[in-house]
Amino acid sequence: MSKEEKLNDDLIFTCPDCGKHRLECCEDGAYSSEVIGIDEEGDFDYGEIDASGIVVRFQCLECGFILTRKFEGCGEYDITNVEEVIKWIKENCEQPESYIGHRGTDDNADS
Ligand SMILES: [Zn+2]
Repeated sequence: MSKEEKLNDDLIFTCPDCGKHRLECCEDGAYSSEVIGIDEEGDFDYGEIDASGIVVRFQCLECGFILTRKFEGCGEYDITNVEEVIKWIKENCEQPESYIGHRGTDDNADS
């Protein structure tokens, strides 16, 4: 399947702290990988797969803001599950009306 087609379904992460759009998946041990595509159905694309498979948190790649969820009576915990990430993004990140094509595949814009 082509990447261009897939992009249509992608959600955009926007960091509430720094406003950037890069999400990182941190895993047990020294592993982490950038999440480059977030499908509403929970199909994530990762930049590099060298992970342990045990997710410990999702965070902003730029500033380290950690995605958390609060439950009444249960305090706050770090989100580790893709469905929670999708919920979080829908609740916390505005999706532009026409975000199709917004995400580029090259990274030479800011570095
Ligand atoms: Zn940030």
